[in-house]
Amino acid sequence: MSAPSAPVAIIGAGWTGLAAAFTLQQHAIPCVVYESAPHPGGRARTVSQHGHQLDNGQHLLIGAYSETLRLLQQSGQDEGALLLRQPLRLAVWGQQERLLLNAPRLPAPLHLAAALLSAQGLPWGERLAALRMGLRLQTSAYRLPEDISVAALLRQHRQGERTTRLLWEPLCIATLNTPIAEASAQVFLNVLRDSFGHRYRDAELLLPRVALGELFAESLSAQLNRQAANTLRLRQRVEALHSEDGKLCALTVQGKHRPYTQAILATAPEAASRLLAPLPTLQGLAEQIRQLGSRAILTAYLHYPPECRLPQPMLGLHGGIAQWLTDRRITGQAGLIAVTISTAEGYGSMDNNSLCDTLHREIQQHFPHWPAPQHCQVIREKRATFDCRVGIQSLRPEQQTPLHGLWLAGDYTAGDYPATLEGAVRSGVQCAHQIIQARK
Ligand SMILES: Cc1cc2nc3c(=O)[nH]c(=O)nc-3n(C[C@H](O)[C@H](O)[C@H](O)COP(=O)(O)OP(=O)(O)OC[C@H]3O[C@@H](n4cnc5c(N)ncnc54)[C@H](O)[C@@H]3O)c2cc1C
Repeated sequence: MSAPSAPVAIIGAGWTGLAAAFTLQQHAIPCVVYESAPHPGGRARTVSQHGHQLDNGQHLLIGAYSETLRLLQQSGQDEGALLLRQPLRLAVWGQQERLLLNAPRLPAPLHLAAALLSAQGLPWGERLAALRMGLRLQTSAYRLPEDISVAALLRQHRQGERTTRLLWEPLCIATLNTPIAEASAQVFLNVLRDSFGHRYRDAELLLPRVALGELFAESLSAQLNRQAANTLRLRQRVEALHSEDGKLCALTVQGKHRPYTQAILATAPEAASRLLAPLPTLQGLAEQIRQLGSRAILTAYLHYPPECRLPQPMLGLHGGIAQWLTDRRITGQAGLIAVTISTAEGYGSMDNNSLCDTLHREIQQHFPHWPAPQHCQVIREKRATFDCRVGIQSLRPEQQTPLHGLWLAGDYTAGDYPATLEGAVRSGVQCAHQIIQARK
């Protein structure tokens, strides 16, 4: 057991690492957060490009993100000032067809039943099939005897072709960043359960009103440093972990040896696997994490004149490359449209100019009066999320590692959610609680 006053090292200041640090500080356990980048936030950060403040990807939260919302509140943030809360209103436009799903303010799951039955753009028979699936899922507590693909689940429940194309497929790709033919139905059901199974508020959409960095990372970092100066150390890469007699004993940070007997490895999976691999007892774990694989998300920001606006903050598109458009008017950037392309591995070689031209043409099919954008910026996140494929849950590691004193936290560790902000925060908080328990 560590001395009560010995600080815990946290490697990585993404949402996971910050959530862990905040929780430890709340329990008077000192910690030091090492972050290799010049800023906190990790895969949910704001970048400055050609004088524009842009998020590395458009992020959407939902009402079911209970731990994230709790932490925001406990760190003194005002949810209303940071997040625009919208009732669930899903619009997906294809070339010749449009889906509009509106959830009325009714107790769950009646809100979902009413939304499905009144969905515009779906044939009556398909709406009934979707409702039947919703009821059966509710009865089975959203559990499957064994994992199958989302496509297979939809076939089992006889989902119509149009419902699959305009509703389930866009939802699955947006939440799991994995195509329906490969995506884990169990993880998809976990998301549906938490969004639709309990309270009306859980399905509400929460869109950041501020730059992503401001939403969580900057405020939490400031709070950590206020509690104890120099808690967050930026531009400090952890280069190696050291062990002695099966216990963690030190880290190498920027070439310097730092003794630690407890550390939380809160990096993304690839970096975690790289740090674990040199230690013989952790090679198996490193390989397991490597096998999680990754998927890309590409975000293009098209700068239109300020009068160009979407009919609602987010709009799904179907039939081309663009998947979701977000009107950045909500962050005070009128005319800026963020185009999200998930499962974007296939666009790696497409150059930015061709990509932006294609996206503009797709947008113009729906908004013919919009002029060409003044300019366009593209941010590619090659390893945005782990590959949320069938059977992935059995590969996600527990937080305790075979090396005494070393813990894992991150959106990829064992948990119900796909790679999400809420998954990251839950993992960080849970890991901190395991350390708090171990110190009692
Ligand atoms: C484009 C995009 C869009 C997304 N959209 C959504 C969305 O709409 N909704 C949603 O809920 N989620 C979304 N996500 C997922 C979400 O951003 C991630 O799940 C979450 O940010 C992961 O946080 P993390 O702290 O676990 O990992 P990370 O954010 O990766 O943090 C790890 C940190 O560790 C640091 N680090 C790495 N190696 C070292 C080292 N050796 N020493 C010190 N520091 C190190 C890194 O610099 C990084 O800051 C999206 C992700 C992307 C990329």
